[in-house]
Amino acid sequence: MSQWPSIADIVQSVEAGKVQATELVRQALKTIEDKQEYQAIIAVIKERAENRAADIDKRVAKGEKIGRLAGVPFIAKDNMLTFGSETTAASNILKGFEAPYQATAIEKLEAEGAICVAKANLDAFAHGASTENSDVMTTKNPHDTSRVPGGSSGGSAAAVVLDMAPFALGTDTGGSIRLPASFTGAVGYKPTYGLVSRSGVIAMASSTDVIGPLARTVEDAALVLDVMSGRDDLDGTTIERDTSPYTTLDVSVKGKTVGIIAEYMDEGVDPAIRKEIEAAVKQLQAAGANIVSVSLPSLPLALACYYIICPAEVSSNLSRYDGQHYGFSHADAKSLEESYNWSRSEGFGDEAKRRIMIGTYVLSSGYYDAYYKKAQTVRTKLVEEFTRAFKKVDFLAGPVAPMTAFEIGKNVDDPLQMYLVDIMTVAASLVGIPAVSVPVAKVQGLPVGLQLMAPQKHDRALLSLAAKIKETA
Ligand code: GLN
Repeated sequence: MSQWPSIADIVQSVEAGKVQATELVRQALKTIEDKQEYQAIIAVIKERAENRAADIDKRVAKGEKIGRLAGVPFIAKDNMLTFGSETTAASNILKGFEAPYQATAIEKLEAEGAICVAKANLDAFAHGASTENSDVMTTKNPHDTSRVPGGSSGGSAAAVVLDMAPFALGTDTGGSIRLPASFTGAVGYKPTYGLVSRSGVIAMASSTDVIGPLARTVEDAALVLDVMSGRDDLDGTTIERDTSPYTTLDVSVKGKTVGIIAEYMDEGVDPAIRKEIEAAVKQLQAAGANIVSVSLPSLPLALACYYIICPAEVSSNLSRYDGQHYGFSHADAKSLEESYNWSRSEGFGDEAKRRIMIGTYVLSSGYYDAYYKKAQTVRTKLVEEFTRAFKKVDFLAGPVAPMTAFEIGKNVDDPLQMYLVDIMTVAASLVGIPAVSVPVAKVQGLPVGLQLMAPQKHDRALLSLAAKIKETA
C-alpha cells in the first residue's frame, strides 16, 4: 500500500488544515533519501520546496484557498526547466545549467499549489528506453533491482512506484511515459500532441514531444492533466483543451468499440503478456464495450519511420549545445571552432552523438529524398490508417511492449535491439494521438501495462476507458 492517499484526498486534508504541506514535503524528501539505492532522483529541490510549503501552510492558517493541488509534492523529469536545482537532462553537456524560467507545465501545477521536490533521472536528453543512456546513473526497477525501469522517463516512473511523491512528470516522444509505466506498474499518460505546452521542455523531437503524468491511479493522472493542459502563448503548437474537466471520467464505455491491434499481438510478443492483455480487454467487454480485431497494415514501418524523423529533429535541436550558451564548455579550447568541437565531443554521450550523425545524414541533400522524405510519407500513411481505423472503432488496444522489464546491461551494446523495445509505442507518437499505459497484471513478478489509444483530442474518453481497468495481480 502506498503511503500517499489519492491526490484529491491530500488536497482536501491540506485545505482543511488537517495535514501540513510542510509535513508532506518532509515525507517526500525522506522517502527520496531512504530509497537512494534505486537511483531514481538526480537532484533534490529542498530549500525552495520547504519555503513554498511553509508559505502554503501560512496561507491555509489565514483561511486562504490554495488550489486544486494544494501542498501536493511532485517530481519532474530533469528535461523540464525548474527553479531550485540544476536542469541537465541527465547529460554532461548541461552540467551546471540553471534554468532562467520554468516550464509552463510546472508553472501551472505550482499555481494550483503543487510543490516540485526533486528532478528525476532519464536517458540523457530522453534518448532511450531504459535510462541506461543517462550520463549520471542507471535507475533500477523497483520490482527487481537487476532490471531497468524502462525509459526514458524511468526515474519518474520508479519514483512514483517507490512512493517518493504522489505523482511525477515525464515526457513522451516515442513511448517514454508509457514504456516505464508498463515496466514499473505505474499509470503513464501521453496526452494528445499539443495538449500540454512544451515551453520549458528540453526539446528532443519537437513534432512528437509531449509532457504527461505518471501516477498511481488514472484518477490522479487525470487531475494532473487537467491542471497542466491548455493553450499557451509560449508554444504555438498547443491546442484548446476540452471545456469539461478531465477528472470527471464519465464518458460511458457502453456500446463503444475497442479494436485490438492485430500487428501488436503477433508471435513477437511474449505469450504470457498476450494472455494478460486479452484478459484485461475482457474487463472492458464486461463494462459494455464491443471488442474487435483491427489491422493497421503500415504499422510494421512505424519504427523505421520514427528512427529517421526523430534523429532528424534531434540533430537540429541539439545544435544549440555548442559550449557557448549553456552548461559545459571545454576549458582548454583556444579557438571558437575548437570550443564547439571539444565541448560537443566531451559533453554529449554516445547515443546523442549517434542521433546527431543519423539525423544529419538523413537530412543531407544527397539522402533527404531517400530517407527523410520517405519517412514523412510513411508518417502520413500512418495518420490515414489510424483515421480510417477510428471510423470503425472508438479506441485501440494492445500491449505497450513485447516484453517485461529486461536486465540492466542486456541491450546497451546493441542500439538496434534497444530501438526495437519501442516497436509498439512510436506509432501513437507519430500520429499525435493520446495513449496510456495502465498496469493490468504481473508476469513472473514483473508488471505488464495495457496500452489504450483514442483519436486526437479524445483524452477525456480515453481516461474514462482507462479508469475501467483494474489490476488483477
Ligand atoms: N525510446 C524512444 C527513443 O529512444 C522514445 C524516447 C522518448 O519517448 N523520449 O527515441
